Amino acid sequence: MKRESCIFTRLGLGVVAALATAVPPTGLVEASLPQPPLAEDRGHVVATRQTPDEFLATFDDAVLPGLGPIGPAPSITGNAAVDARIRAIGEARGYRRRPLPSGPLESVNGVLLQPEAAAGLRSLVAAAAAAGHRIWATSGYRSPATQTSIFLGKLAGTSDAAIDRRLRTVAVPGYSKHHTGYAIDIRASDGRLFSFRNTAAYAWLAADNFANAKAHGFVPSYPDGSGPAGPDPEPWELVWVGAENILCGVFEATADRPFCDTAESSFAADIDWLLAEGITTGCRDGRFCTRAMVTRAEAATFLWRLAGRPAAGADIEFVDVPEGAFYSDAVRWMFAEGITTGTTRTTFEPDRPLTRAEFVTFLWRDAGSPPVEPGSVSFVDVDSAGFAAAAIDWAAATGVTTGTSKFTFSPSTAATRGQAAAFLHRLATLDP
Ligand SMILES: [Zn+2]
Repeated sequence: MKRESCIFTRLGLGVVAALATAVPPTGLVEASLPQPPLAEDRGHVVATRQTPDEFLATFDDAVLPGLGPIGPAPSITGNAAVDARIRAIGEARGYRRRPLPSGPLESVNGVLLQPEAAAGLRSLVAAAAAAGHRIWATSGYRSPATQTSIFLGKLAGTSDAAIDRRLRTVAVPGYSKHHTGYAIDIRASDGRLFSFRNTAAYAWLAADNFANAKAHGFVPSYPDGSGPAGPDPEPWELVWVGAENILCGVFEATADRPFCDTAESSFAADIDWLLAEGITTGCRDGRFCTRAMVTRAEAATFLWRLAGRPAAGADIEFVDVPEGAFYSDAVRWMFAEGITTGTTRTTFEPDRPLTRAEFVTFLWRDAGSPPVEPGSVSFVDVDSAGFAAAAIDWAAATGVTTGTSKFTFSPSTAATRGQAAAFLHRLATLDP
């Protein structure tokens, strides 16, 4: 059997020409692209009230796309002992390590930002202009190397006092929110950093618990009056977290509504069903992580729970599926049933995100690999000779998938947990 890990190739024009005869699937598509907040959503966000420490926690706890894992701390001075002391003093001040971007950034007048932060900045600047304030961002993404040269630039010696003094205004390299691509420094009026606090633009931003910043997904990065946050308060720095993280920051779970991040999702009904069936318990405290990529281990677990948690069957030779892991029974069952063959003979790659093609292949095999009339449904981006063609045809014909648009399936895009919920819900409600 073919493995699930094949790479898709782009299709030629012949397939596009065949589009005219294709029957497009109907109904809601699974695409969940970044969208501006709904008007109602924005109203809820603006009405939230956060303390300074809650503003800090909103960014610290945010689930944000486009970030990689936190790697080793970068070298600062070239002297390991001095670097360790800088980090220790920084951490005592409240600095935290921050992840680096894992995807492309977008330029807003030369300031590089994560795509959703860039969209937020554009709408914030427009709203400020409409209110009579000209504001602009002078800094977004900065690499740890740039941060290092800024930090060393005015470091007056390496005594603890000199290091602490420097850290009042400049982050420890590797600890700056700027290198996430989600932080911006805002200027207005005379453009001077330290007079920003006294501008009418700042008063507009900060009024009513930062309502005008929150309306565009931003919260203050280092607000006045918080506990140790790293630098001294910085009225000019905002971080983008988006409506969902702002609402999650003030959410109190109830039995009826355990997740803070599903109400505005087009997959809310699917996720409710998943929860009611005991197939999910969420990704972490109070969240389903609707927009996070589903991992192969999570997908296996979802399918296994949907099947009623059957006893694990065969022995497996996957060296990366340890005994006792939350997904090991699920993977053993899948292997015994022929639903997975691994990514190699000895690996399953549990932590790797699953593509949409791989997910639908799992579902199709779980359903017994039913044959489908080839070409009954066509997506222009699905290779009819590829490993997942039959599975995707079946999924489209049965309504398990409705595509990411009328004519596309986006086979090599990572499936999100929200999409996974929709796939599973539709699979479970198929007529036998
Ligand atoms: Zn800054």
